[in-house]
Amino acid sequence: MSDAMFPMEQKRPVAPWLQSLWEGLDFNKIPNAILLHGQSGIGKFPFALELAKALLCEANHTFKPCNQCEACHWFYTGNHPDFITLVPETHRKLLPQADYESDDAPKRSKGSKEDSDGEASEKQEKKNISIEETRSAIESLAIGSHRGGNRVILIYPLELLRSDSANTLLKSLEEPPANTIFLLLADRVDRVLPTIRSRCRLLTAPRPDRLDGLAWLKTQLSNIVGLKVNESDVETIYDEQGGAPYSVLDSFIARHNKDDKDELTIAIAASRLLLQSLSQGARIPWLETAEKIHKAQYAYLLATMQRWVSDLQLVSQGGSPRYYPKHVATLRGLAQTARVIKLLQFWKSLLQARRSENHPLASRIQIEALLSQYQQVFEG
Ligand SMILES: [Zn+2]
Repeated sequence: MSDAMFPMEQKRPVAPWLQSLWEGLDFNKIPNAILLHGQSGIGKFPFALELAKALLCEANHTFKPCNQCEACHWFYTGNHPDFITLVPETHRKLLPQADYESDDAPKRSKGSKEDSDGEASEKQEKKNISIEETRSAIESLAIGSHRGGNRVILIYPLELLRSDSANTLLKSLEEPPANTIFLLLADRVDRVLPTIRSRCRLLTAPRPDRLDGLAWLKTQLSNIVGLKVNESDVETIYDEQGGAPYSVLDSFIARHNKDDKDELTIAIAASRLLLQSLSQGARIPWLETAEKIHKAQYAYLLATMQRWVSDLQLVSQGGSPRYYPKHVATLRGLAQTARVIKLLQFWKSLLQARRSENHPLASRIQIEALLSQYQQVFEG
């Protein structure tokens, strides 16, 4: 098979900062269950796909995946019968699928039509891994593998598995079927059931350091045909996203494809607006801001506020901002009028709010309350 059969391969290797994690894997001693965890948007999913492909690869040599054998080909076209995935609808576009027409820009599926004006509950539904699918996937493990080799079941995000599904999974982990490898992915390992966690080999995916992450990101962006980006824009968004290169790449691709229904695009736009408002301290137009941003993901907005407040705390103690170095002058100005105790109280409110962040959308009232509390940090 020629290399041309696998045009995506060169574009989706294991990210450099995950390379040592990859090299630490002993393919002769792969555990039954691997729990790969780490910050969202740093490349765990592509890493897991590459690992799944390697585990299914049928080549005789040690360098896997070979990207040449029949199994690799099946995998690449999204048709390998022994690769089972349990991912919510919102993540399915990340899975391999046949796409021979074009090997130019990475493809992103446009949001399906019913997505655009769907109810919040429907959105939540799409973010969950369905119970029926979990059950039928686990049941299918009772039958031997189709190609007589390994079978890989990938689950992401593990923390979104409902409790009944988690119990089904747990039973299967307790008595793992032969030649079956569970690849479990989680952004927040503290939200994974301890009973599941204890049956897995834990792999921690590290975040790249800033320069490495940015270098990788800029290379990826330069490979997208027709995409023009401003370098300082890339750096700003990179910092705003807490140093998660894959998230930033995704958002640029979505923007490039003019996918304005894309959740991340909406979140980034809202997050920018939020930052502009937060910069105004006591003069924050909180009602207006809440109205403009409340349709973005709550968790995302909360993370932005946390990063901002964390920087504000650092600066008021004489330190340098970690996330928003470009806003250092604004932060210093705000730090002079911020009241330490109120700032701390606000921080606590944010932590409190994060406990319910899994509600995909916040009510406008929740955001209004937080922003008005922020305003009070500066009054006096
Ligand atoms: Zn192969």
